[in-house]
Amino acid sequence: MVKKIVEVTDFKEVLECVNEIQDMYLSSSCDLKALSDKILFLSDAIINSEEKNKTNVQIYSSASVKVMECLSKNQKLSNKLFYEWYGVVKQLLAVLFIYNTVDALICESDDEYLNNLLIDYFSSRDNDNITLAHYFAVRRIARQDAKRCYDLYIEDYKKYPDLLKRIYKKSTYVYDQSSICDEIYKECPICSSGDSEYFYCANQALLNRNNFSPAKLWMKCKSCGNLYAYNFPMQKNGEINGHYTRKNSNGLLEPRNLLNIYSNIFNHVREINNGRRYLEVGIGCGEMLAVALEMGYDVSAVEICKEDCENVSGALGVDIKWCDFLKYETPDKYDVIIMGDVLEHVGKPIDALKKAYDMLDGGGVLWLSTPNFESAFSRMRKFADPMWNQANHFTYFSYDGLKPFLDKLGFEVKRYDVSNRYNGSMELFLQKN
Ligand SMILES: [Zn+2]
Repeated sequence: MVKKIVEVTDFKEVLECVNEIQDMYLSSSCDLKALSDKILFLSDAIINSEEKNKTNVQIYSSASVKVMECLSKNQKLSNKLFYEWYGVVKQLLAVLFIYNTVDALICESDDEYLNNLLIDYFSSRDNDNITLAHYFAVRRIARQDAKRCYDLYIEDYKKYPDLLKRIYKKSTYVYDQSSICDEIYKECPICSSGDSEYFYCANQALLNRNNFSPAKLWMKCKSCGNLYAYNFPMQKNGEINGHYTRKNSNGLLEPRNLLNIYSNIFNHVREINNGRRYLEVGIGCGEMLAVALEMGYDVSAVEICKEDCENVSGALGVDIKWCDFLKYETPDKYDVIIMGDVLEHVGKPIDALKKAYDMLDGGGVLWLSTPNFESAFSRMRKFADPMWNQANHFTYFSYDGLKPFLDKLGFEVKRYDVSNRYNGSMELFLQKN
C-alpha cells in the first residue's frame, strides 16, 4: 500500500483499497478485523498526503476514530457511521486528485484501467469538489475516448455550470445550454464523407466564452484525413468571427504583429506574380491590408464581421465589403488573393478555395494561412498546443490533407512557410495554373 499519494498513479492502489473496503463492508460475511486493517492502511496514505490541508486531516481523523472505536469493540458499523467515513474519504481524495492534476499540461493517459477507476469513483458528483475531480479525471480520456469525454464534460457542467470558477479564479464561464447554438456535424465539411472517428475532446470552457459549448469534439475524417468539429455554432458564424480591431474613439488601429512580417510575405508573392490587383478575404485587425497599401497594391477586401469592416475601412480609407466571401459577387479578377487564417473558420472551406481560384486571373497567387495539426509546433506540443482550443475554428487541416484538394482545383504550391504570426500555422503560396 502506498504510504503517501505523490502522483496520479498512486491513486490506483488507494482507490482499489477504498473499493475493497466498501465491498467488505457490504459483504454478508464481513471480517471486522480485516476491515479495520484495510482502513488503517488507507488512513496512513491519506493522512501523510494531506500536509497542506490540516482541516481535512482533522475531519478525516475524527470520522475514522469513530469507525475504529466501533471496530475495536468488534461491533458492526452502522450505515450512517460507515458512509459518513466513506464520504469524508471521497471528499479528501477528490481534493488531493485536484491538487495533483490541476497544473498538468499533459492530461491524456493510455492507462485505461486507472482512467476508468478515477472516472467511476468520482462519478457520483456529490458536491463541487467531487465533480471537479471527476472533470479532471475525464480530461485523461480526451484523446483515448473523445466522445465519452465530451459527454461527461457536459454532464459535469450541467451539474455545476460555473465548475471552473471553483479552481480558476479568473474563470467567468457559466454553462447555459440556451445560449449555445451548436449544430452537430456527422459528415466531413471538407470532403462530405460520413466515415469519421472521434479524435479529441478540447476544453473550451477555459476560453470564458459563454456562447460556446464547454467542450469541442474534434472528428478525424477517415476519407480525407483532416479534422473538423462535431459540434459548432455555424449559424452564429458571422457573429463569433472577427472582432479583432479595438473600438476606439480616435479611429487608430492597433497592429498585433511586426508589420515587416507582411512585407516579407508580399515580397515572396511578387517572386511568383508581380500584379497589383489585390483582394483580401478576412481582414483581421487591418495590418496586412495597411502593408498592402504601403507596397502599392490596388486593394479591395471582404469581411464577415461588421465591426472590423467599419473600423478598418474608416481608418485606412478602403472600401471593404461586409459579407460572407461565398456570397461575394464581383466581375473583377485578381492577381493576388489573401486568405489569412480564414479557412478554418468557414463552413465550406473547399468551396471558398474554389471561389478564390475562380476569382484569380491566370498565374494569380492565393496566399493561404491556416493551422496545421501536423506542424512542427503541434508535433512538439501535442495537445498542449492551444490551437486545439480555438473556439471559432471549425476545421483543422494538415498539409497532406489539404494538398490533394489544392491539386484538384488546379493550384500549384510554390512555397511553404511556417507562420511567423501563429504557432502551428502553415503559410502557402499557391499559383493558379
Ligand atoms: Zn473528409
